[in-house]
Parts: sequence; C-alpha cells; structure tokens
Amino acid sequence: MTLILASRPNVYSSNPLDRIGARREDAAWIAERLDDPDSLFVPVWRSRNLVHGLDEGAPEAVYISGEAASALRMAGGPWVFLGVLGDQPGEGAGEGAAEGAGERAVFGIDISAADDPVPLLPDALGKFVDLRAVGWGVAKPEASILAHARGMLHWRVRHRFCGVCGAPCEAKSAGHVMQCTACEAQHFPRTDPAVIMLVIRGDHALLGHSQRFPRANMYSTLAGFVEPGETLEEAVRREVFEESGIRAGAVHYHSSQPWPFPGNIMLGFYAEGLNEEITIDTEEMIDVRWFSRAEIADPEQHGFVLPRVDSIARRLIEDWMATT
Ligand SMILES: [Zn+2]
Repeated sequence: MTLILASRPNVYSSNPLDRIGARREDAAWIAERLDDPDSLFVPVWRSRNLVHGLDEGAPEAVYISGEAASALRMAGGPWVFLGVLGDQPGEGAGEGAAEGAGERAVFGIDISAADDPVPLLPDALGKFVDLRAVGWGVAKPEASILAHARGMLHWRVRHRFCGVCGAPCEAKSAGHVMQCTACEAQHFPRTDPAVIMLVIRGDHALLGHSQRFPRANMYSTLAGFVEPGETLEEAVRREVFEESGIRAGAVHYHSSQPWPFPGNIMLGFYAEGLNEEITIDTEEMIDVRWFSRAEIADPEQHGFVLPRVDSIARRLIEDWMATT
C-alpha cells in the first residue's frame, strides 16, 4: 500500500500557545498573571465557546482581559492556565476584548454556574456556541485555543471528586492536576484516543453511514475507541472488522487531530482492505459500502455527502483522492 502523507495541518492543530508546563508549579507567578490586566481569559460556558462575528459569517474567538476578566473571575468557576501567547491574538473583538501585543498569559475559565452568562460579559461581545458548529470558519490558531480551553475545562468540571475514594478534589498545578483532599490521589487531564481510518482496496475506499451521524446521507470513514491493552494498529483492524466485516492488512499512520468533543484525540490511518464482502454491524452502522474514486469525486451526483471539512475523516478522503 502506498504511503499517503498529510497534505496540511488539521483543524484544531497549530495551537500557538507556549504551554510552559514548568510555570504551572510557580504559584506566585500564576497569581500575578491572574491579576495582570493584560492576561487573556477564554470563557467556556457549558462546553460552549465565546465567538464574535457569527452573523457576518466570519466567526472569531473572543478573549477577555482587564476589568471584564476580573468580573468573570468573581463568578468563582474553575480556571486553568493554558500557556502564553507571543504575538497579538488575532483580531479580538468588541469592548473589553484584548488589544495590543507582547507575551500574555492565557487562561481558560468556566462560567457554567451562571444560568445566563451574558450579564457577566461586556455588551455585544459575541455568543456562546458549540465549537463544532463554527470550528470550520475560525482561524486555525484561534480554533485550537478554543478547543484547548473547552477540552481542559470539560475535564476539570467532571473531575471534582476522587475516582479512588470519592472525596472532593482540589485543583493544583494551575488547574492541570486534581488532587484528592482525603487520599491525595492525583488525577490528570484526559484525552482518549480514537482511531479513524480510510480502508482502501484498489481503486475503492470503504465509507459508512453510522447510527450516530446527524445527516441521513453522510458517508464517512470508520472510527472507534482504542481499548486498554491494544495497539493503535490492532484497534484499527478490530474496529474495521466489527463495523464492516472487512479484514485489514497493512495500516499506515496519516495524522492526528485534537477533538475535544468532549475529550478525544483522533488518530488517522489508512488501512489495506483484504477482502471485499461487507457484513455490517447493524447496532452501530446503517450502511457500509465501497465507493469508487469517481463516486467520491462527485458525491452529490451519487446521492451522498462527505464528512465536514474540519474533520480528519474528510482530510483522509481528500488526501487519498489526490493520489493517483
Ligand atoms: Zn481520594
């Protein structure tokens, strides 16, 4: 099987933050940055990100600084230090949003406790939206920061109690460790690996329509979670066989994509299909088919749609189509 390389970075990659992990242990420095009017806060409300310019079709991330940030912190929700930003953070937006350049600390802050987050913010800053709905349109570095904040805070708000003894946890290391107040067990941010793979056989690729897909005629690559005690290649072969009855031979890595919806990293592969006859797992899949290059080149004509442009699934398909 020909090796197919990633043609360009995936959406939600290209995170411009320097995470400077060692600084997380410097409580005095973190406290100073929290109070620094130049520090930037990325608010997350019930897993939604604050975005400006949606109605104009040009969504941009909104960062909060100065007094507006103090008001957010007064709400008392969990926060996490994400890193420092060396250059000016994109366009910014609206009153209370950041302006200026230089190295600035960036924090994620969760304000989910408020039933309505709007009064916590300066007027007309933007809207809280599901990043999945707008990620395609936000500049890549900004989309990465929004995804980073969303992923970290999703973990934080769901690890308030110790998984070992059930006692409350408290945040350490600038929000990157949740430590049990009773047994002192430390709990770290999770990102769960999922494999996603385009199975190729000659001039055909295997695409399926999953029970989970929101769009009735969308066909995409197969995918599944990596289980404990399994290599990535084994996970690829197992998931392909379970969902389609196709045995996979050679497996090659393509690229990865942070996918904090809610807490995954997608690991993209190509797999060589060893047999043709499909047997679908009807619990999970509605349909699985071999598609020719000609069909994939013109999905509309053939009555289906491809996965979204911000997905690694789409990138796997496009990069295969670009080979001859
Ligand atoms: Zn404990």
